[in-house]
Amino acid sequence: MTDNLDRRTFLAAAAGVAGAAWIRPQQPTRKTRLILLGTGGGPRPKKENNATAHVIIAGDQLYVVDCGDGVAHQLVLAGASLDKLRHVFITHHHSDHNADYGNLLLLSWASGLRTPVDTWGPPPLARITRLFFEMSAYDIDVRIADEGRVPLVPLIHAHELPGPGPVLRDENVTVTSALVNHPMVTPAYGYRFDAADRSIVFSGDTTFSDNLVQLARGADVLVHEALYLPAVDRLVARVPNAATLKKHLLASHTSAEDCGRVAAAAGVTTLVLSHFVPPDDPLVTAQMWIDAARRHFTGEIIAGRDLMEI
Ligand SMILES: [Zn+2]
Ligand SMILES: [Zn+2]
Repeated sequence: MTDNLDRRTFLAAAAGVAGAAWIRPQQPTRKTRLILLGTGGGPRPKKENNATAHVIIAGDQLYVVDCGDGVAHQLVLAGASLDKLRHVFITHHHSDHNADYGNLLLLSWASGLRTPVDTWGPPPLARITRLFFEMSAYDIDVRIADEGRVPLVPLIHAHELPGPGPVLRDENVTVTSALVNHPMVTPAYGYRFDAADRSIVFSGDTTFSDNLVQLARGADVLVHEALYLPAVDRLVARVPNAATLKKHLLASHTSAEDCGRVAAAAGVTTLVLSHFVPPDDPLVTAQMWIDAARRHFTGEIIAGRDLMEI
């Protein structure tokens, strides 16, 4: 509990403020925070978890990695302030990673964002951004006129990555990308964030990737997508395009066992499994995911859950 919270709690109690109980002690937090916003793989909306999205909070600013359905709402549930959005990174243009990219920008602006946001990802990110604003022009213009908001479009700077390598460096983090292997989506990127206190890597969607192993070398945390092979047949049995979907899943993603191999080869401290495929099979427990990755990795393994902070 911080001194500040102690004081607030004391003052609230001393004043007999109704509802003072909402002031909860907070866990001591690291300077650079990682929160999983959505841990389900695939674009199909699910009860159990949201589509892929994560946020790093550093220096009071938000660095969002992937924008699956519901990312803005998940940020609110995580206690983040949308007006602190600073950077958005898209790993690749599958809809479970970008469906709410434009909405995140629009809804952050509607929540008070007045400062620049840089967005990063593969082409056609600039076109996606431009067309989203064109689609949303009516609402944006009305709110500027009606509510006195600053114009949104000049705040947003979309950067299409020309290839792997350095992405940006600011006062909080250095960001580096690597090409990962996610047929048929090319290019697809993984991202590494190096902060003063920790390093965090996101695999994006990929098969076992040597590039990712290099990118994640010695990192504190590797957030890796994960496929549970024994359950794939149950997953695809629910859809009409079963054969094609199964082929895509096996050719484009990484089994939980191989996530352990990547983590071991890269020498990371903590492996966080996320982007679960299947995302909502009740027969596959968190422990089963961990056990699968454990075969090849002796470090810490966490089966991610939405809104988990790591
Ligand atoms: Zn995906
Ligand atoms: Zn994908």
